[in-house]
This record gives sequence, C-alpha cells and structure tokens, in this order.
Amino acid sequence: MSLIVQKFGGTSVGDIDRIMKAAEKTRAEFDRGNQLAVVVSAMSGVTNQLVAYCDAITDDHDTREYDSIVASGEQVTAGLFALALQKYGLKARSWLGWQVPIVTDTQHGRARIVDIQTEDLRACLAAGEIPVVAGFQGLSDGGRISTLGRGGSDTSAVALAAALNAERCDIYTDVDGVYTTDPRIVTRARKIPRVSFEEMLEMASVGAKVLQVRSVAMAMRHRVRVQVLSTFAPEIGSDLPGTLIVDEDEIMEKELVSGLAFSRDDAKITLEGVHNAPGLAASIFAPLSNAGIIVDMIVQDIALGKDAITNMTFTVGKRDLAQAVRLFEEERAAGRLNFKAIHTDSDIVKISAIGVGMKSQSGVALKMFQILAEKGINIEVISTSEIKTSVLIKDAYTELALRALHTAYGLDAA
Ligand code: ADP
Ligand code: ASP
Ligand code: MG
Repeated sequence: MSLIVQKFGGTSVGDIDRIMKAAEKTRAEFDRGNQLAVVVSAMSGVTNQLVAYCDAITDDHDTREYDSIVASGEQVTAGLFALALQKYGLKARSWLGWQVPIVTDTQHGRARIVDIQTEDLRACLAAGEIPVVAGFQGLSDGGRISTLGRGGSDTSAVALAAALNAERCDIYTDVDGVYTTDPRIVTRARKIPRVSFEEMLEMASVGAKVLQVRSVAMAMRHRVRVQVLSTFAPEIGSDLPGTLIVDEDEIMEKELVSGLAFSRDDAKITLEGVHNAPGLAASIFAPLSNAGIIVDMIVQDIALGKDAITNMTFTVGKRDLAQAVRLFEEERAAGRLNFKAIHTDSDIVKISAIGVGMKSQSGVALKMFQILAEKGINIEVISTSEIKTSVLIKDAYTELALRALHTAYGLDAA
C-alpha cells in the first residue's frame, strides 16, 4: 500500500460539482488500494476577494490579521471536501494548519514551513481515514495563523508528502501537465511528459505559476516525486497521465530550450543621474534589502565623462514599487543617495527561455534578440543564468513575443 498526497487547486474545487468530481479522483486512488492525504486550495477567486477586503481597509496591513483573513478560504473547502468523501462512503476529516500542526516561521504573508508534526495525521491514516488538510496555512508563534504566499497550497502538499514520506505528490489543476509555455497564451504549447527539478524551479521562478516556486524547491530538496495533472481530463489508461518532475538524469533528451515563461509581476525603476563611484550599488540596494524588497534584473549604464554620471535600472515586485520609491526619496532627503530623477514603469513583462541544454550550447540568447528585433520589439533589460535567458519588454508585446519565440525555438506542437 502506497501513500499518495493529492492537492486540488482553486478551479478544481471551484464549486460543489467540481468538489464532487475532484473527490472522485481520491476515491479512484483509494479503490486502487492506496492510502491518501488530500490538500485543498480555496475555491477559485475566494483568496483574491479576501485580499481585496484587506486592501480596502489599508494596503499597509498588519500581516498577522491579513493571514487570519486570507487563510479562511481553505477552511471551507477542506470541510466540503471531507463531506464529499464521506458521501462516497469514505472515512474523512478536515484538518486546519494549526490542528496538524504545520508550524511556520513568523514571516506572515510569506511564511516558511519549519516543521510538520505528523503524529495525529498518521493516526488518522492508520485508522483508515483520509485527512483533508487546508493548504496555504500554518501556525506561527503565539498561536497565530500564518500563510505561505500566493499559490502556497502547492508547497503545503509537497511539504506534507515529504513529512509523510509519501510515494508521490499529485498536483491536480486545470491543465493536464506542465507545458512548454502557458497554454492559455500560446495555443500551440506542448505538454512536457518529464521536466527536471532544476528546470521546473527556473520556470516557476520566472513566472510559470502552475507550481509555486517554493514547492519545487522543497520537492528538489526532499526528493519528492511530483506529478502535475488535470482534475477534469478523463484518465486515458496511463498510470502517470500528467507531467512528472524528476532528477535531470532521468531525462534522456536534454532540450536546448524546454520552455518559455513570462511574468507581469515586476515593475521597472530607473534612477537617473547617479554618481558612479565605489559603493553606488550598495547604497542603492541596501535600503531595499533592509526592507525585504527583492530586486531581480539590474543594468547599470556605462558612465561617460569625467563626472561619471550614470543611470541604474532594475526591477522589483509591483507590490513593492511604492515602498521602493518612498525609500529612495527618504535616502535622498537624508543625503545618503544622490540622483537627478526616478522613473518607474509597470507596463512591462519579463519573458524567459529555460533549458538545461543551455549549459552546453550557445545561441539561445542571440536567437531571442534576433526574433524580437524582427518583430520590432525593443529589449529594455537582459539577464541570464546558467539555464535561463530573460528579457524585459513592453507588456503589450507579451503574446506576440511568446508566440514568435515558441516557434523559433522549435517548441510548437505538431
Ligand atoms: P491551481 O488553482 O490549480 O493551483 P494555477 O492557476 O495556480 O492552478 O496554475 C495552473 C495554471 O498555470 C494554468 O491554468 C496555466 O494557465 C498556468 N500556466 C502557466 N505556465 C504554465 C505552463 N508552463 N504549463 C502549464 N500551465 C501553466
Ligand atoms: N488560495 C491560495 C491562493 O490563491 C493558495 C493556493 O491556491 O495555492 O493563493
Ligand atoms: Mg496554483
């Protein structure tokens, strides 16, 4: 008998019919003789609504109260899912994060799991019962409810699979696997049967929201076998119908580019007229770092002339933009940083090509620049890593760029 952790995302539990349909997947796996633990998200749209309620009061909220509010969506679906399983004649009960408990650190709003105490869950499993665990939430210091960041139910599921030593973690969603790019944007996107942890980590970190980044990092660290598959597609005879995330050496064909991703979560900041001297970058990025603001792409213009005046451009999360600008104004007022003007742009998108094949072959970046040039699309910032090339362009060109690059890298479905 194997233990499988199943996670159902927002659309998979979007209404009562869907919850019944999702619960059928659990019943089918149970009928095959497996032990099951289920993790659920809130019904689709619910978490956004809860976040909007908080924002309507203040955008500078007490994150502990924010967590208590936004975690509530998962409580409802955990209970409903347990009821659905009971209706199918299975023994089931719901578990909230604090009841397990899933212990996290105190970084409310983006807490990290530090421990899952599995004793009670194991007793539940041993009694032939299916635990239905509310995803996205945990218990922080002082008995406070915490949440793991948007999309965090994936991480709850993988963490639970690791803690319970599960055979596999099945992430049920509204697509039947991981695709070469978001199939909602590029209809020619192709399903990838197997993807390495490393590639999936890069894809998720540059915007492929099919899995939360932390869930992939956790799966990689604890060697959890993760499968992404559809709640709604009929099973077509295969044991593993979705995409499996595996070690790189389990993949025979190493594609040069295995996928494209995009992110509209970033905003661009340019500090115009900064003085290029030792310590410049530190004085710009220290205040951001101290405030917990993550900086992604960075370019510094070459400083010409004897007064060495230059510009520094970089990206931060859109949600951090206002705070970042405020910090720079404060630094300037305090005389710690000098610049002529600050420019911001939120109408941008980051497009990235990912592939482990890039480690050993060149030309990916060049092809990207050529294709975008052919389409008349201006590149504003570039960044690269061992297995990724990213460019920042105007948001309006997202679809055009993705489709053209998808074809150029030979990723289109036949
Ligand atoms: P859930 O609510 O089940 O967690 P999400 O909306 O978080 O689902 O993730 C699934 C969505 O991820 C898909 O509907 C798809 O639009 C998007 N997506 C983005 N990139 C990819 C990709 N490379 N492969 C598959 N889906 C992707
Ligand atoms: N409900 C949470 C969100 O929308 C967590 C999740 O769905 O994974 O972000
Ligand atoms: Mg998700």
